Amino acid sequence: MTGFTMTINGAATTGDGTFDVIDPATGEVFAQAPDSGRGHLDAAMNAAAEAYRHWKLDEEVRRRALLDAADALDSGAERLARLLTSEQGRPLPEARAEIGWATMWLRYYADLEIPREIVQDDQNGFAEVARRPMGVVAAIAPWNLPIILAIWKIAPALLAGNTMVLKPSPFTPLATLAMGEMVRGVFPPGVLNIVSGQDPLGAWMTAHPTPRKITFTGSVATGMKVAAAAAKDLKRVTLELGGNDPAIVLEDADLARIADDVFTGAFMNNGQNCMVIKRVYVHERRHADLVEALAERAKAARVGSGFDDVQLGPIANRPQFDRVSELVTDAIAHGAVAAAGGRALERPGYFFEPTILTGVSDGIRIVDEEQFGPALPVIAYRDLDDVVDRANDTPYGLTASVWTDDDARAADVASRLECGQVTVNAHGNGLRPDLPFGGHKQSGIGVTNGPWGLHRYTELQALTRPARTTSALDNERQTV
Ligand code: NAD
Repeated sequence: MTGFTMTINGAATTGDGTFDVIDPATGEVFAQAPDSGRGHLDAAMNAAAEAYRHWKLDEEVRRRALLDAADALDSGAERLARLLTSEQGRPLPEARAEIGWATMWLRYYADLEIPREIVQDDQNGFAEVARRPMGVVAAIAPWNLPIILAIWKIAPALLAGNTMVLKPSPFTPLATLAMGEMVRGVFPPGVLNIVSGQDPLGAWMTAHPTPRKITFTGSVATGMKVAAAAAKDLKRVTLELGGNDPAIVLEDADLARIADDVFTGAFMNNGQNCMVIKRVYVHERRHADLVEALAERAKAARVGSGFDDVQLGPIANRPQFDRVSELVTDAIAHGAVAAAGGRALERPGYFFEPTILTGVSDGIRIVDEEQFGPALPVIAYRDLDDVVDRANDTPYGLTASVWTDDDARAADVASRLECGQVTVNAHGNGLRPDLPFGGHKQSGIGVTNGPWGLHRYTELQALTRPARTTSALDNERQTV
């Protein structure tokens, strides 16, 4: 598949060369993406800086453009979904849902107020606090949810009056490039530029003198490099990073009712969402039953090409497939037992059996690290205080869930968990346009979504005006 172009200054732009895009269901090259050199990046940054001069001026124009962008994505939804399934592997119905979320987020932000707070308006004068745009935003996205995670950046940043240069992951550039084509006529030239390339392109973006803000979603290791690069000229950052998200199943939990949701909470998108359950802690009296219920579901899960009738597709790329394989092998070498799965499927592509591991605990890599794939350790605990400490004993702090019918106990446990979102009797259903999503500790800096996400793309500006009848000197006397 060829013909993908970058969007720079509103125009289709080829790269200095191309790079291969692999279909994870076959392990074969299936498309070429344009490879941006430094010259194209400079052109994109210059276009964004020039477009900013006008884009920041008219809020109504921006709101209409976000609505038009949502309509454009609706029209192109099937093409985008098929590209997502081809490059990322997720089942087509889920890819379609991802495009649906993207349009929902665009419409949410098109309607969201940009706050303006009047602090004083009386005979002595006027004072207000407004939120102003920042300038050019450099946006860098990962491969696990390419479109929705890009839209989480585009919608609030553009509403606030910023312009953007966006780079998708080199593993999944195609749907994002196609989205750029679809909205070329919607945004004025230079407002949304999309460049594609390998990892060094991301580093060039963060070191570039033009952007005033970097919004990054990806791993903690890369997030630290981004923060270090941003520190050189004090660019603002939002970092949405990895997680090692615990689910804590209390003794009273109704396993028959929750087992499906625990399984989905861990295995959605083949375990490749930042906020999925990465480790389950279950009371020791319920451990065997929960392992059995989850193993049953793992064995029954249909795994295959995302274009077939399946629940789980392939792991999205070779490095991630190797990592999941390595962590499962390591766990089994340390005494873990695979109650389901435990190895790769013998077929082309990056398919791995949905895996439930027992006989494993803290201190083993698959429990301590972010596996980001279809393998779930299920760990028994005895004491609730102890398990809360174990859940918190990690550099990560993205999300967690508590499973019990006792609301007061759930609220108490939630209050002691060090993370940005806690869900009760569900996992991950706090991902909504109107709720903040972000990590504590090394899982990130700042939040996305809701007004809080919008604020991250603005700078505060205080504006004061003395009363018209008062001289500047009088005013100074009054305020001293
Ligand atoms: P990654 O860090 O390898 O890459 C992310 C992006 O950064 C890619 O576009 C990559 O090309 C770019 N990049 C690589 N090196 C760079 C550098 N030195 N400077 C700037 N950019 C650079 O992450 P990934 O493997 O693509 O994504 C998986 C990770 O993302 C997981 O850890 C997952 O938890 C995390 N994630 C977090 C969230 C969240 O909202 N918190 C959401 C999705 C994924």
